[in-house]
Amino acid sequence: MFNNVRYEDEEQNSSYRSYAHNVPIQFFGPSGTPAPDPSNKSKLTTRSWNSNAPKWRTAAGGLSLEAYCYNSSCQAYNKGYVLVKWGYRDFDFFLNDRDVGCPMCGRYVQTKNFGFCSTWYKVVGCKRDKPDEPLQHVDTEWDFVSNDRYYTFLDSPEDLVYWGQLKIKVSKSRPY
Ligand SMILES: [Zn+2]
Repeated sequence: MFNNVRYEDEEQNSSYRSYAHNVPIQFFGPSGTPAPDPSNKSKLTTRSWNSNAPKWRTAAGGLSLEAYCYNSSCQAYNKGYVLVKWGYRDFDFFLNDRDVGCPMCGRYVQTKNFGFCSTWYKVVGCKRDKPDEPLQHVDTEWDFVSNDRYYTFLDSPEDLVYWGQLKIKVSKSRPY
C-alpha cells in the first residue's frame, strides 16, 4: 500500500521557492551518485491511480520526486516514499537537491526516484551503468507520458546507475 499514488490535476507554478541564488552542489562519490535511470525506457514502470492513497502520495502533472521523510513528528514518517510535486519545471538532481521538501512537513528530503504524469520529458547528464564502467553522456529524445497512470522507474539496487550529472527537463506542451 505504500506504493499507492493519488492524482491531483492542479497547477504547480505559484508557490515554488526560487533557487536562482543556490550554489551548485556537486556530490561525486568514487563513481557518482546512485539513483534510478530515467533515461532508460526499459526501467520504466507504472502504477494505477488509487484514490485511497495517503495524502503524501499525491502526484500532479509534470515531474514528481520520491523521497523518505526522516522527521519523526511528520505524518509521513516511516510510511514509505512521499511524493514531492515538482511540476512542470526542469529539475537538476544536484543543483536543486536542497529545494526538495516533504509535502507534509516541509523539511528537506533527499530525492530517491522520479515520477511523471501528463508531461513531456527529456534526460540529460552523464552516468556510469556500473561503478567500474566509464562515464557515458546521456541526452535522450523527448518522450511523452499521459495521465492514465503514474510513470516511475525501477529502483531495486540492481536497477540503479551512478550519476555525475543529471537534469530532467519537463514540458507541458509539445517541446518541438
Ligand atoms: Zn515530512
